[in-house]
Amino acid sequence: DDVILRLRDVKVHFPLKGGFMQKTTAHVKAIDGVNLDVYRGEVLGLVGESGCGKTTLGKTILQLIHATDGEITYRSTDDQETDLTKLKDHELFPYRKRLQIVFQDPHSSLNPAFTIFGSLEDPLKKYGIKSREERRKIIGDLLEAVNMRREYMDRFPHEFSGGQRQRIGIARALSIEPELIICDEAVSALDVSIQAQVLQLLMKLKQEKNLTYIFITHDLSVTEYICDRIAVMYLGRIVELCASEDLYARRLHPYTQALLSAIPVADLDKQTKRIVLEGDVPSPVNPPSGCPFHPRCQFRKDVCSQVEPKLKRYRIDGRDHYAACHLIDLPEATPDAA
Ligand code: SF4
Repeated sequence: DDVILRLRDVKVHFPLKGGFMQKTTAHVKAIDGVNLDVYRGEVLGLVGESGCGKTTLGKTILQLIHATDGEITYRSTDDQETDLTKLKDHELFPYRKRLQIVFQDPHSSLNPAFTIFGSLEDPLKKYGIKSREERRKIIGDLLEAVNMRREYMDRFPHEFSGGQRQRIGIARALSIEPELIICDEAVSALDVSIQAQVLQLLMKLKQEKNLTYIFITHDLSVTEYICDRIAVMYLGRIVELCASEDLYARRLHPYTQALLSAIPVADLDKQTKRIVLEGDVPSPVNPPSGCPFHPRCQFRKDVCSQVEPKLKRYRIDGRDHYAACHLIDLPEATPDAA
């Protein structure tokens, strides 16, 4: 398979300073050993409750936050591999063009003092489009690509609705022709009907421009329809990863089971009993021993607080299904099983 990004044992640990002389007393383990391959052309969902590390992981992939350990390898279409974590800021310039982000809040991602043209021309200038006329043409084309009128480029952000601003945010992410876009809660602030329009637009653009998406959300009702695969995160780790249809049909991890049990399904026969999680997500400062989910898990055994379960690969119906739980009673896939 054609991997565009490969993450190996990625960690983001911040020292937590405090007390006399600002001595380091503990570490926040925001990301704690993530392994993940992202395939060119797929939509990969990254889901979990707030505080699970999904946004931090997105920003770490883009090098907006630096990993304290591990590798994040970008693979170009001509098979050149580059570990982004080893690059200095100025060396990242050509890679920033290929990896873009759309944020949740269209308000804060557009400068209210600039027209839409003013906001969108900046990345084009940076990447060498010197002629103003050419920039106007590109931005007009981009606005049309996101179903907006070209003339809107001379208006200000406050003149648009939330859904329109989000489409402008998407146009900006597309302006320098990226290969991969991280959509960070990109539709979460929108009404359900507008959400559907923006999702449809994202899928249309993906086909037209051959894009790869990492779709970060806490909302599992959105991911089912647009994601090819889904990674579930808990306390800075991936606890389950598989094809989207497999996650909804046969989730293996107790945390995923609890998350999905909260989503109403149209077919009442398929509605599972609601599992209410005990307590809040623990702090990533000194996370629980063993399985990080054990204080909230209704199936926990003694081993769960003592030994950390590894993310193991299983083969189910000919597809890979990864999960990290001691209680999964399936044979682990052999390395060459495919
Ligand atoms: Fe629950 Fe134990 Fe599995 Fe963790 S390892 S999810 S505590 S059963």
